[in-house]
Order: sequence, then C-alpha cells, then structure tokens
Amino acid sequence: MKASAFSYARATSVGNALELLAAHGDGAKVLSGGQSLMPAMNLRLITPELLIDIGDLGELRGIDLAGGVLRIGALTRHVELLNSAEIGGHAPLLSEAIAHVAHPAIRNKGTLGGSLAHADPASELPACMLALNAAIVVRGRTGERRIAAKDFFTGIYQTALAADELLVAVELPAVQQDSVHFFHEFARRHGDYAIVGLAAQAIVRGGTFADLRIALFAVGDRPVLADVTARLTSVAITPALLSDAAAALAEELDPQEDQQASVAMRRHLAKVLLVRGVSALLGRPELAGVLG
Ligand SMILES: Cc1cc2nc3c(=O)[nH]c(=O)nc-3n(C[C@H](O)[C@H](O)[C@H](O)COP(=O)(O)OP(=O)(O)OC[C@H]3O[C@@H](n4cnc5c(N)ncnc54)[C@H](O)[C@@H]3O)c2cc1C
Repeated sequence: MKASAFSYARATSVGNALELLAAHGDGAKVLSGGQSLMPAMNLRLITPELLIDIGDLGELRGIDLAGGVLRIGALTRHVELLNSAEIGGHAPLLSEAIAHVAHPAIRNKGTLGGSLAHADPASELPACMLALNAAIVVRGRTGERRIAAKDFFTGIYQTALAADELLVAVELPAVQQDSVHFFHEFARRHGDYAIVGLAAQAIVRGGTFADLRIALFAVGDRPVLADVTARLTSVAITPALLSDAAAALAEELDPQEDQQASVAMRRHLAKVLLVRGVSALLGRPELAGVLG
C-alpha cells in the first residue's frame, strides 16, 4: 500500500517549522528520519495532510557536554549516538541500548528525537531516558520547556508534546565515576522490538546501592520507572530481599498480552531481568539464582 496524498514542506529554521506546525495543527506531522513515520503512512495508519521535514535544521543535531550535562540534539541519528565517544564515556547505558535498536539501515536514518516523539512502549530509548533521569527539551512559539522523562511518555504513542511543539533536544546528567549500568532485553532476534527489556543506572558504594534507577519497557502502555528500587537502595541486599522485590515488581507492572507474550510471561521476564540486573550491578553472581 502507498501513503495517501500529502503536501511536503522543508523547514528552513526551527521558527519556520513551528510556524508551519501552528498553521496546520493536527493535520501536520514532523518528518525526522522517517523510519517510523513512513511505514505508518504507507500502511495508512496515519494520513497527515502535510509533512514538515526538519532534516536540514543543523542546530537540532549534535552532542555537547557542558557543566556535567550532555545535550543531544533531537536530529542526532542512532548511528551517531552509537559511535560517539562522548556518549560512550558519559552515558554508556545509551551506547549499549542503541545497539539493540533495529538494524544498521534504520539506525543510519532514525533519530533520537523521532524515537522519543514516536513513544513506542517497546522502544529502548524512552526507557533509557527514564533510567538516565533525562529532561526532554521541547520548543513552541512561546518558548522552551523541559519535561522530566518520567512525565513525557503518557501512553501508547502518546507524549506530553503539544501538536504545535517540536522536540529539540535531550539533556542528561553525565554519569558519575562510581556509576554502573545494566541493559538487557528479551527479543526474538537481535534488532527486533523487545518482548520485555530493562535499562538501569546506579551508584554502588560499599556494596550497596546509593542510587538506583530501573526502567522497564514493553511492559505496558509506556516505559515504567520501577518504584521497587526504593526497597533496594541503602540496604544490604539478601537473596530474600531481592526475591521479594521481584515479586513486588511483578505486581507494580500492568503488562499487555500480544502475539509475542502473555501477561504472565511478561511479569515473569521482568522479574528475571530485575534479578539479573541487580546481580550484575552489584557484581554478585550468587544473587542471579534467587528465583530458583
Ligand atoms: C523494521 C524496523 C524495525 C525497528 N526496530 C526498532 C527497535 O527495535 N527499537 C526501536 O526503538 N525502534 C525501532 N524502529 C523505529 C526506529 O528506531 C525509528 O527510527 C524511530 O522510532 C523514529 O525515529 P525517526 O527519526 O525515523 O522518526 P520519524 O519516523 O521521522 O518520526 C516518528 C514520529 O515522531 C514525530 N517526530 C519526529 N521527530 C520529531 C521532533 N523532533 N519533534 C516532534 N515530533 C517528532 C513524527 O512526526 C512521527 O510521529 C524500527 C523501525 C523499523 C522500520
């Protein structure tokens, strides 16, 4: 199937893109890498009247580190994140996660901003934004606002972005020296969307978590920042404590059934990932077997 007829405009500046968005409202769609938008249009799941191509807007591209904050432009492509020494050094969780996003052809075109604005609940990068405590920077005609990642994703393919706003950048605190991270997803094949996945960023001091942020994806209508981490922070982790935390996590989640997995399977896989993640982050392999 082919997309229904649409008009096309190449934005000449961020201001121009915002004017076009304001003029056309819900009838317009921003085009970044096109890796999610074009398939959806070709399947006629969406039929925008106007595509606003922001691909020429160089100011939305690039990675900068200043004052302990990494600012990544929305148009920065997956492949650029994967190959970036700044990301590898200051947000290594992201480097590891990107390698699981689709395949090289898609990573060569797809962008960070597109992935976050698309808000697929099975996507890796939205969950990483939660684990990394990111701020999503969006711009409208009246100015910019920063939205905490935990408030940005509001449902399946739904975000806090207004129809007349552009996602312009992401800001991440650069990780501290004693930070550790963990990323794993269950997928049928490498590069497929996850059946269940987990991204974690932690600070470990004296064998306990001084800070722990765990985000799960493909476990509901949006990525989830696990509340259960409160039970695991600033305490000595015993097998019993970890087993109880895994059970509590399964209760906390509201997964959905689809062709890939049942609700029970998703809850079970989330528990397995939590246990493996905590074991790996603490460097305590004996904890990996607590679920029996
Ligand atoms: C075969 C296949 C496999 C894939 N596998 C995975 C996978 O495993 N994991 C994964 O995470 N993704 C996967 N993807 C999606 C891919 O990562 C996309 O690149 C990404 O979701 C969207 O980025 P994009 O730049 O191509 O956005 P586009 O397709 O251009 O846009 C996506 C949506 O975001 C909006 N948008 C884009 N940029 C902005 C902006 N700056 N401000 C406001 N709105 C904006 C668009 O209007 C559109 O609604 C896959 C895609 C394909 C085709």
